[in-house]
Amino acid sequence: MCGIFGIYNQPEASKLTYLGLYALQHRGQESAGIASSDGNRILSFIGMGQVAEVFTQGNLDELKGNMAIGHVRYSTTGVSFLKNAQPLVINYAKGQIALAHNGNLANAGQWRARLEKQGSIFQTSSDSEVILHLIAKANGRPLVPAIKYALSKLKGAYSIAMMTKDRLIAVRDPWGVRPLCIGKIDKGWVVASESCALDLIGARYFREVNPGELVVIDSKGLHSKQILPKKSDTAMCIFEYIYFSRPDSIIFGKSVHSIRRELGARLARESYPSIKKADFVMAVPDSANGAAIGYAKEAGIPYETGLIRNHYIGRTFIEPNQNIRDFGAKIKYNPVRDVLNGKRIVLIDDSIVRGTTSRKLIKMIRNAGAREVHLAISSPPITGSCYYGIDTPTKEELIASKHSVREIQNFLGVESLHYLSLGGLLESVRSDRKTYCTACFSGDYKICGGC
Ligand code: AMP
Repeated sequence: MCGIFGIYNQPEASKLTYLGLYALQHRGQESAGIASSDGNRILSFIGMGQVAEVFTQGNLDELKGNMAIGHVRYSTTGVSFLKNAQPLVINYAKGQIALAHNGNLANAGQWRARLEKQGSIFQTSSDSEVILHLIAKANGRPLVPAIKYALSKLKGAYSIAMMTKDRLIAVRDPWGVRPLCIGKIDKGWVVASESCALDLIGARYFREVNPGELVVIDSKGLHSKQILPKKSDTAMCIFEYIYFSRPDSIIFGKSVHSIRRELGARLARESYPSIKKADFVMAVPDSANGAAIGYAKEAGIPYETGLIRNHYIGRTFIEPNQNIRDFGAKIKYNPVRDVLNGKRIVLIDDSIVRGTTSRKLIKMIRNAGAREVHLAISSPPITGSCYYGIDTPTKEELIASKHSVREIQNFLGVESLHYLSLGGLLESVRSDRKTYCTACFSGDYKICGGC
């Protein structure tokens, strides 16, 4: 998973990119980078860690120019080290290119092996570098046809912001797996993974980059080209709505918060009749807040705050030698005893992955005095890994791939466990399987079979 951002024709482009990345920090905390262009050459600075750790006033001042692209990384392919941080910047026969990529390329490994056989030397282990090698090998074509040539060879998910010394380019794979939107700011343009990045810098949401569309922004304005044919189906990642995106964003044309509230309302319709009576609904903060609000309204019971999340946990924390049980979960969440004591609770979470965090949280809630815990999940059981950019563990590690709902309920130690149905999920996003990728829930890997 990653977040990408690009801006054209704005003084202080690199500082606005810094702010854009700040808003996209939830999409990746491993590394951050910005490349800017002063019209003659591309300059870049990348580093390991979060945006505020990587950039200083000093290194931003050096990133001169009125256009820039940026990237925050969460590695799903390629190990975590500085060389894999983006934007990748290369020099090839036709000049410099900087590239920031969100997504996973399913056949990058095959292409890499093929290109290496032909003598290509790769600098990183990330799949994104394959795109640049294919562009450079596009037999002298101009840039846009070269990008088309490169991307027509690749399968999988890509939302890309690219920059030459005088052009900003945005492109999205024909399945539309990851989000990418366009904004307008004064006389300039912005592209971003999520619209929350536009809000922070005062840009207006314009539209999404369409699946298979390439957008070039230059001194003559914005030009669009459908470089790869539209598919009859798309495969927009439904998990972006469930967990990944920020609730204040508009992605795939819809408000994430409104969708989450709807997921909660559907979940209440499906599950509350069998729970029958509870004192209140509460969320595992923050990703399940919207769904819990929707659930409470639909079920007609109060919404409460029973868990507090500490937002200030850095990348590393020092654990005392004296063993503290469940330290990892405790440092992140603390129960509110006064709220929980003696109560029958409907606890909402957005998903169960391995089940390990959920188990610890439920123990915590019980130790705080809760009388009954009914766990309701605002998505169906996750039974398959994601090959298109969400960091899910292997199928074997996914608790729902090997265990029944009853077995998971016993493992977690709850009075009852309820998942949203796949039908309920699709109705909540007002669509069918033709629009969204539901592979992690349904096993329907549209893009490349089982990959
Ligand atoms: P687990 O205890 O492994 O089942 O983790 C479940 C929690 O992980 C849920 O509260 C989700 O909000 C969160 N979650 C879901 N998907 C991911 C992901 N790809 N990366 C990190 N956390 C996730």
